Amino acid sequence: MFDYVVVGGGIGGVVSYAILKKIGKKVALLEKESYLGGCSGTFKRKEYLYNVGASTLVGLQDHMPLGKVFKFLNLPKPKVKKLEVPMVVFVGDKAIKRYSDKEKAVLELENNFNYKNLRSVWQKVYSISDANWQNIYNVIPINYKNPKLLFKKFAENYRYLLKALPYQFKTSYDFFKDNLGDFDEDFKDFLDNQILMTSQGYSRDVSISVGSMGLTYPNLDNYYVYGGMGKVFDCLVDDYKNVFLKHKVIKIKKVKDFFQVITDKEVFEAKNVILNKTIWDYCDLLEDFKDACIKNRKKYSKIWSSLTIYFNLEDKNNVVDEHHYQIIHKDINPYTGSNSFFVSISDKEDEVLTKDGEKSVIISTHCRISFWQDLSKQEYLEKKEKAKDFILNRLFEYVPKFKDCKIKNVMVGSPKTFQRYTGRYNGTVGGIPLIKDYIPFKYPFNFTPIKGVYLVGDSVFPGQGWPGVIIGVLNLLLQIEDIDEILH
Ligand SMILES: Cc1cc2nc3c(=O)[nH]c(=O)nc-3n(C[C@H](O)[C@H](O)[C@H](O)COP(=O)(O)OP(=O)(O)OC[C@H]3O[C@@H](n4cnc5c(N)ncnc54)[C@H](O)[C@@H]3O)c2cc1C
Repeated sequence: MFDYVVVGGGIGGVVSYAILKKIGKKVALLEKESYLGGCSGTFKRKEYLYNVGASTLVGLQDHMPLGKVFKFLNLPKPKVKKLEVPMVVFVGDKAIKRYSDKEKAVLELENNFNYKNLRSVWQKVYSISDANWQNIYNVIPINYKNPKLLFKKFAENYRYLLKALPYQFKTSYDFFKDNLGDFDEDFKDFLDNQILMTSQGYSRDVSISVGSMGLTYPNLDNYYVYGGMGKVFDCLVDDYKNVFLKHKVIKIKKVKDFFQVITDKEVFEAKNVILNKTIWDYCDLLEDFKDACIKNRKKYSKIWSSLTIYFNLEDKNNVVDEHHYQIIHKDINPYTGSNSFFVSISDKEDEVLTKDGEKSVIISTHCRISFWQDLSKQEYLEKKEKAKDFILNRLFEYVPKFKDCKIKNVMVGSPKTFQRYTGRYNGTVGGIPLIKDYIPFKYPFNFTPIKGVYLVGDSVFPGQGWPGVIIGVLNLLLQIEDIDEILH
């Protein structure tokens, strides 16, 4: 009998597994694929490797979420390279380098956007975001259904909370409008799409509290991971004794005071179950609890999926020498509903992802789920082709140097692909939007209606991206186990 069975080996499941194992719990991790990582894994096609989705890593320093986990586990970190320019954003006729250094970042913005107060407004954005980061570990664990805990946390952190709360109720758009005055379409597109990337919502829907963290994402230490994001999972899981790959969980049954976790291979028994599933689909595994997820599908309906393009770039001369670009184009992509996409290219010296001068590239874009439903096989294939052409044409237009390199082995992933691969409802990836409809008072936490069954991942507090998912894991484990030491 296990103390815990963790279902799903995404970053949420793997971090939960590793921490529980470290504190001496008997724990098993079940993953349906042949490798760990989910949306953040690295997959192989023919002899090439590609990141599935996530490609930018932040939070590896000791005071940041993943850094804290590595320190607690006392395990070596993956081989990484710190990026001085974590991304270049193309908008209108501008190519804006998003420097990691805060002063350089502001100067670059001032060089591209001519607004009198831009510097002071951006300093304010830094200070809102910094305050959130400095206080996050004091504020967790939070759980709206536990008033005693809420009161305790409020009493301990009221100075920060009272100062921070007004920023939760002002949208990012209004914040800039009030402080900067009128701004042009390029600046709005820039705000919208930089915020969308980390918050799954646009500036009119995302508070400046959340938006500031998206806008300053490049100012956190950003890393390139040699060998792909999947390498981080190899580092977090130091032995695979109780990691069961190719084990798809089909049902979870409550039997007296324990759970039977039924996979397509064998049955596991556990006192507790942690589901690395979303609030929209975890109920599929539980008998008699379908309602909870159906309710969530209605309550949290503003959700995105992703369209991805994977290929190899013949670039022996390292013509494309940056790692990440965000392209913001004027027109809306009719196959996705968004007007931007993110491009990640492997390092020339990465011997795993770059083979014989052929770099591994992933392009990802936010995609409306409804655009890919109810299609015949033929329509589906044609749509994939058109979506690919649309995006590659915009890439060549905004970053012409891509045209100097040959593109090979192109593959397209749609919401349907993500649904099949991650098991997530309708291919809902990227996480629950951090929009004002849900935050701060309607946000889902780690608890399910069944005692002993918990949720981790990017659809529960505080949401997406590696830092968000890891803080969510800590939020849960701090409430059910004694892991306080990890915060110090
Ligand atoms: C295109 C894209 C780009 C992104 N870029 C970044 C980025 O650059 N940086 C960043 O920090 N974040 C990024 N994100 C967000 C980040 O990848 C996700 O928020 C995060 O990886 C989600 O992790 P998760 O723990 O919720 O689990 P998931 O990644 O959803 O993993 C769930 C796992 O559970 C497994 N599973 C599901 N059902 C079962 C079952 N029945 N039995 C067994 N196993 C099961 C799945 O196979 C999967 O491995 C990106 C996301 C996408 C989609």
